[in-house]
Amino acid sequence: MKIATKFIHAGTEPDPSTGAIMTPIYQTSTYVQEAPGVNKGFEYARSQNPTRKALEEALAVIENGKFGLAFSSGVAATDAVIKLLAPGDEVIAGNDMYGGTFRLFSKIFEKFGIRFLYIDFSHPDQVSKSISDKTKLIWVETPTNPLMNIADIAAIATIAKKAGALLCVDNTFASPYLQNPLDLGADIVMHSSTKYLGGHSDVIQGALIMNDAALREKLYFIQKSCGAVPGPMDCFLVLRGIKTLHVRMQAHCANGEKIAYWLREHAKIGRVYWPGFEDAPGHAIAKKQMRGFGGMISFTLKDESMDKAMKLLSSTKLFSLAESLGGVESLINHPASMTHASIPREERIKNGLSDSLIRLSIGIEDADDLINDLQKAIG
Ligand SMILES: *Cc1c(COP(=O)(O)O)cnc(C)c1O
Repeated sequence: MKIATKFIHAGTEPDPSTGAIMTPIYQTSTYVQEAPGVNKGFEYARSQNPTRKALEEALAVIENGKFGLAFSSGVAATDAVIKLLAPGDEVIAGNDMYGGTFRLFSKIFEKFGIRFLYIDFSHPDQVSKSISDKTKLIWVETPTNPLMNIADIAAIATIAKKAGALLCVDNTFASPYLQNPLDLGADIVMHSSTKYLGGHSDVIQGALIMNDAALREKLYFIQKSCGAVPGPMDCFLVLRGIKTLHVRMQAHCANGEKIAYWLREHAKIGRVYWPGFEDAPGHAIAKKQMRGFGGMISFTLKDESMDKAMKLLSSTKLFSLAESLGGVESLINHPASMTHASIPREERIKNGLSDSLIRLSIGIEDADDLINDLQKAIG
């Protein structure tokens, strides 16, 4: 089945009790049982909910996986993966990634005796060098947030398998329309469904998708035991978002390409980070593992002063100044003070995230209107 058909039909069966074509929002906390232990597969809504079940089936379909699990946020999904580990275990993660993932690792899990090593995944040999017999998990984000670095998922999956470590890929930036890490050998795919899956900036949610049944059981046990489950209304919204993911992504990609090239030609723009440029550092790998390059772009101004960046950030009219990404409307963001403020400054600068870096989430408005807006703000 082709992607468009798959995304529209994923997980949706007419409701068995009424025939409703859309899965209803089952706003219930519990289910009446015929006799103790005799039920219709639903006992208590932290453990099972029909709206969530439909969404979890859809998540599996769109990532070419066997099982999906939905969480109350992206970081709750990440949290569940780390809870597979035990004190003394080591995790290899990227040195450029979502600030909240870094905060969860360094501020919450380190104190429970889990060790995190941060490396540059654009060089797979660095992964082999960092592996020890304690490495239990490799956590990859590609493209990275906000520097758009690319990691070779298949190459890292081979290294992870040899070491007996799990590979989890945060696929939020690419979305399943552009990249399917399970097909490339990853064990778990993680999403902040808040972003492209939801697509309309109206829900916070996270997802995990996997193929291995034993791994699914462990993660389901964590999901129900720790309780970071999304409500049925939020599941409905993400289910609806998935139906238009492919058309939205096509528009994000087309607008992204147009704006990336326009920025690159602009006299006042310094460096533009977008994996679609033929001379971008990770382009060859991106081309191999992605079906397009997406609508996330970061850039610096030639004049790298903080003042100039701040002025631009507060001058756009169509691009709203806000954290988050992946919605139909365009957003502009200042990673150093917003999404990545939880990473210490020296650490950020060392990894190439300068104070003047600006990140765009290109929406699906008309590209010329977006360019005009940027032109006026850049001056
Ligand atoms: C937003 C984001 C997260 C966290 O997801 P929430 O839904 O905000 O909890 C994780 N990874 C990436 C790449 C993100 O952009």
